[in-house]
Amino acid sequence: MKAIAVFPASREVKLIDQEEPAITQPNQVKLRILDVGICGTDKEISTFEYGTPPAGSDYLIIGHEALGEVVEVGDAVTHLAPGNLVVPSVRRPCPHTWCRSCRAGHQDFCESGDFTERGIKGAHGFLTEFVVDEARYMNPVPHSLRGVAVLVEPLTIAEKAEHQLYALMQRRPPWIDPAVSERTQGRGHRALVLGAGPVGLLGAMALRTAEFETFIYSREQEPDPRIAVAKAIGATYLSSQALPTDQLESRIGPIDLVYEAVGHSLLALQVLRALGPNGIYVLTGVPGWQTLIEADPAALFRDMVLKNQVVLGTVNAGPHDFSAAIADLTTFHRRWPDAVRALIGERTPIEQAVERILGRPAGIKSVISF
Ligand code: BGC
Repeated sequence: MKAIAVFPASREVKLIDQEEPAITQPNQVKLRILDVGICGTDKEISTFEYGTPPAGSDYLIIGHEALGEVVEVGDAVTHLAPGNLVVPSVRRPCPHTWCRSCRAGHQDFCESGDFTERGIKGAHGFLTEFVVDEARYMNPVPHSLRGVAVLVEPLTIAEKAEHQLYALMQRRPPWIDPAVSERTQGRGHRALVLGAGPVGLLGAMALRTAEFETFIYSREQEPDPRIAVAKAIGATYLSSQALPTDQLESRIGPIDLVYEAVGHSLLALQVLRALGPNGIYVLTGVPGWQTLIEADPAALFRDMVLKNQVVLGTVNAGPHDFSAAIADLTTFHRRWPDAVRALIGERTPIEQAVERILGRPAGIKSVISF
């Protein structure tokens, strides 16, 4: 069967032929892969900046944003059957008995760092025709999401962030007290999303669904399909080419939440200065190696203390985040069908996957389809 593999030692990315996997344990399922989304992480792995092959292998099969169809189940699997659509989770627990998070099923909070991630770190991924995996890592999706469920994995980033955000918001009673909200004439929560890629736009959809007044700040200028999606979901788009970061605060007003989805450390630092009182700054982008920059930590830490600010880093995702993403994607798909579909460009066959990963993306999110 065909697969896309990265060979770090010889610096190659290519289509390979692999033996089709077979179920060997009663708790496993076999999937036929339907769609695989390509993200910045895949690009970094394919340019040898990131990613680790499984122990003993000189290559890594990439792909971690997947949608598959169950084709076979092991004898002990009762909740899945052939024909079901599933999105597999990515991160798998470390082996250490002392890791409280992994032992509790929350490998996204792994304490040892010895977790694996399918298609990224120490385990082969899903950019291949068939995959065998444990049934407990499969997240069932309804057939109505067949065309867009490849967006579930990138949406789990926003779901996990939102979950933590609500816990953090509890420290600030006026955010949740309806009486105070009445006195302040219902001033809602204001969110700034950095980046209009798939992670930013899916995050903006989640924020709009949670009634945040949502601004998206990115480098694109009109006309652009990303700006069209931003407008369709009721967000306000601001181009960084027209508005420098030091004018964000005066343009938007006090910012309660920044949802960073760019992975650019200089931009992230500049926008931190615009965070409002009691604001929460969520970092989701993994920055590549960049040149050193000058910063004024005293000014940043002063603001953080004097304005009760929180900076939160978050990596996806736990089982609850996958089920929340499937429920939210169903809502987005019902509310903004064209905008959700517009996130996915033309689908690319596996034979052209390498050119697609290394070259120009197809639309907002590139998807390889089988
Ligand atoms: C993946 C995550 C992963 C992270 C860091 C992201 O692109 O979606 O599952 O944890 O990269 O490796």
